[in-house]
Amino acid sequence: MSYLTKQDIMNSSDGKCFYCGQPVGEYWHAEHKNPKSKGGRWEENNIVVSCPLCNLRKSNKSVQEFKDCLKIRSTKRISYAVKMVLELLSPYIQDNEYDEICDLWKQIDNLISGIEITFWGERS
Ligand SMILES: [Zn+2]
Repeated sequence: MSYLTKQDIMNSSDGKCFYCGQPVGEYWHAEHKNPKSKGGRWEENNIVVSCPLCNLRKSNKSVQEFKDCLKIRSTKRISYAVKMVLELLSPYIQDNEYDEICDLWKQIDNLISGIEITFWGERS
C-alpha cells in the first residue's frame, strides 16, 4: 500500500471535523486519534480530519480522555454560570431557597456526568 498522505485523509472525509462536525476549512489538521506520544501511528484508521480548535483542545489526549475533559469543562462552565447567578441573586434569595437551588445544581451536575459524548465521526 502506498504512503498515506494528508490529502488522502481529506479525500476520505466529508470535509468536516471528526470531533465537532464543523467544516474544517483551509487550515485543517491531520489528527492522530491515538496520539503519537502514546504510540498512535500514521495510518488510515488512526488519522482523522480535525479543525484547529479541536486538535488544540485534544492535544495528546486519547479519544476517551478528550471526552472526559469535555465533560469536566462543561460542568465547570455551568458551575461558574450558576455561581455568578447565585451571587447576583444572593441579596434577594431566602436561605431555604438557596438550599433548593444548590440541590438543583447537583442534579444538573449528575445529568452532565451521565451524558454520552459522541464525536461527529463516530456517528453512524
Ligand atoms: Zn472540531
